[in-house]
Amino acid sequence: VFEHILQASEDPILGVTVAYNKDPSPVKLNLGVGAYRTEEGKPLVLNVVRRAEQMLVNDNSRVKEYLPIVGLADFNKLSAKLILGADSPAIQENRVTTVQCLSGTGSLRIGAEFLSRHYNQHIIYIPQPTWGNHPKVFALSGITVKFYRYYDPATRGLDFQGLLEDLGSAPSGAIVLLHACAHNPTGVDPTPQQWEQIRQLMRSKALLPFFDSAYQGFASGNLDSDAHSVRIFVADGGECLVAQSYAKNMGLYGERVGALSIVCRTPDVAGRVESQLKLVIRPMYSNPPLHGASIVARILKDSNMYQEWTVELKAMADRIISMRQKLFDALRNRGTPGDWSHIIKQIGMFTFTGLNRNQVSFMTEEYHIYMTSDGRISMAGLSSKTVPHLADAIHAAVTR
Ligand code: PMP
Repeated sequence: VFEHILQASEDPILGVTVAYNKDPSPVKLNLGVGAYRTEEGKPLVLNVVRRAEQMLVNDNSRVKEYLPIVGLADFNKLSAKLILGADSPAIQENRVTTVQCLSGTGSLRIGAEFLSRHYNQHIIYIPQPTWGNHPKVFALSGITVKFYRYYDPATRGLDFQGLLEDLGSAPSGAIVLLHACAHNPTGVDPTPQQWEQIRQLMRSKALLPFFDSAYQGFASGNLDSDAHSVRIFVADGGECLVAQSYAKNMGLYGERVGALSIVCRTPDVAGRVESQLKLVIRPMYSNPPLHGASIVARILKDSNMYQEWTVELKAMADRIISMRQKLFDALRNRGTPGDWSHIIKQIGMFTFTGLNRNQVSFMTEEYHIYMTSDGRISMAGLSSKTVPHLADAIHAAVTR
C-alpha cells in the first residue's frame, strides 16, 4: 500500500548535518545548524542547567505524573515574566495566557492553529528571508503565507522602506511574524527607532503581531534588551502573540522547552483564549513533557541560579561576538575582495555572508565546510582554531 510513496528531500537546514555526518574528512566543519559549540567544538550543557537537573534528581518528592494540558504553571508564569518583563502591565492586569509548548516550533504551531480556528484574518506576512520552517508551520495550519521585504542584499542591512511599504499595503488585520531579536538568517534587526515606527504602522492598520523569540539573550547578552521589541508592543495595550524557545538561551535544544503567550485586552478574554488553546493541544499531544520545563522553572525561580544563568548566557553571546571579529580580521588579513563589515555588524547566531549557492557548494566540496545554500553560517559553530580554515575557504570562493 505504500509503494507509490516518493522519497522526500532532506530538510534544507537539518539536511546539512546529514551531509556533514557522511563526510570522512578530518577538517570538516558544520556551520549549518544553529547550535552553540564551545571553543573545542563541543556541545555545551550550562553549569546552571546541570545544577538544576541534579536538584531535580535529588528531590525524592518528585513524581512523573502528567502535567496539565497547558503545562507547568510556574514555568508558564516565569516565561511570561521573562519575555514581557516583571513589571509588564499585561501580566499585572492578568490578561496574558501562557501555555508550555514543544520549544519554539511547537509554540509557533499551536499559535498558528489557534489563529486559524479563532482569528478572522487568515493571512500572515513573514519576512523575506526568514527561518525556513516559518512558511511551513503557518501554511499547514491553513494560513496564507505572504512575504514582506526585510533584507537588502545591496547594503546587507534592513530594507526598511520595503518593509514599511509591504506592511503598509497588507490587508487590515493581517498577522505579521516578527523576529523579536537576532533575525534568522540575516542577523539584521531593526533599531529601536525603527521598531517604534513598525509598531505605529502595525497598530494603525490593526495588524496582529506574532513574535518569534528564539534568541532572547543571544543577541546582546542581555535578556531585557533582547525583549525590547516585544515589550513596546505590549506597553501600548494591544494584543500580540509570542513564541519563546529555551533551545538556544539555556542550551536545552533536545528537551523541547518553549512557551506560547497570548496577550489579550482583558482577563476574561485571556481565560477564554486559554480554554481554546487547550482544545488545540489535547488532541495533538495531550500535554507537554515535564523534565525540561522543570529545569527552566528552577532556574527562573531562584535568584542565584537566574544570576548564574545570565553570566553563562553572556559568555556564549560574547564568544559568538568574538568569532565575528576574528573572522572579519582573518578576511582582512588575506585581502579578500569585498566589504565584510556586515560580519561584525550582524547580530545573533548567524552571519548572512552574501556568498552565493555556487560559492557555498565550492566551499563544501573543496574545504568540507557545511552551511545552508543561502550562505548563512552559524557563528556559534566556529572557534579560534577553525576561523583560518573558513577564511581560506571564503577567500578561495570569492577569488576563484
Ligand atoms: N524560530 C527561529 C527564528 C529559529 O531560528 C528557531 C531555531 N532554529 C526556532 C524558531 C525554533 O527552534 P526550536 O523549536 O528548536 O525551539
